[in-house]
Amino acid sequence: MLDYHLHLWPHTRSEVSLAVDQLAAYCERAQAAGVVEIAVTEHLFRFTQAKDLLGGFWDDLPGEALRPGMAAYWDHHARVDLDAYVEVVEAVKAEGLPVVLGLEVDYYQGRMDEVAGLLADYPFDVLLGSVHWLGAWRFDVLNDPTVMAEWEVRDIDAVWDEYTRAMEELGASGVCDVFAHPDLVKIAGRVPTVPDEFYDRIAEAAVRSGMAAELSSAGWRKPVGEEYPAPPLLKRFVERGVPLTTASDAHALPDVADRADDLRDLLAGAGITRLQGFRGRRPYEVPVGPPVGA
Ligand SMILES: [Zn+2]
Ligand SMILES: [Zn+2]
Repeated sequence: MLDYHLHLWPHTRSEVSLAVDQLAAYCERAQAAGVVEIAVTEHLFRFTQAKDLLGGFWDDLPGEALRPGMAAYWDHHARVDLDAYVEVVEAVKAEGLPVVLGLEVDYYQGRMDEVAGLLADYPFDVLLGSVHWLGAWRFDVLNDPTVMAEWEVRDIDAVWDEYTRAMEELGASGVCDVFAHPDLVKIAGRVPTVPDEFYDRIAEAAVRSGMAAELSSAGWRKPVGEEYPAPPLLKRFVERGVPLTTASDAHALPDVADRADDLRDLLAGAGITRLQGFRGRRPYEVPVGPPVGA
């Protein structure tokens, strides 16, 4: 098993620090759950270099009333030096701990070449590609009343269509390696009556891009109460031969490798025995492995 989606800091914290000890504790907890390798994948928008490059991108996006919220969100988060982050993770790798260097990258319409240019200067092992925002709407920030008010008024099929289009464009950009939480748009529990078209399109986006897809326990901790991806989307990935990673999307130690055994059961049910790891952006196979104690 892998835990290929891990954050160092909860979103509530603005000023944060980097510590080798924290990564060692993540490794220990992961290994106790039968996870053989972890990827540290902090949000790109945590880093000052991202703000320098992309800050203000929301001014061109739909959702004028939502732009101040996005600006405040970036101001709160973009506080860390990317070079320092890379140095700490590389130092832990050099100690021989089973860690790879990653990043969770958002989709920036029309700006992905610039994002790729920034990231090319660093020795990343794996880049997650995510869609958390539609225009200036941070649709997964469910504790923000302005975000939730949008969920009340928007047409659900239109939201899913816009999300799926962003996933298709993210895949076509070729910048990332893994689709994180592939059906994140269901997070609040709003799902179209017939979501099949969207599942087909997301699965095809993975095939066309050559990207892997993430099987994540994080959805069990959200209002939707379901793993990412939903069973019909996982089935489509498997049928099309899309490689998989497993992930917790933890933002603190207690959630590292969260419900790894339940993810293993889902993989067994789908007939999957091998996952995809990454080193230097190159894929390699990792056995799912037996449950701890088996
Ligand atoms: Zn995410
Ligand atoms: Zn994440």
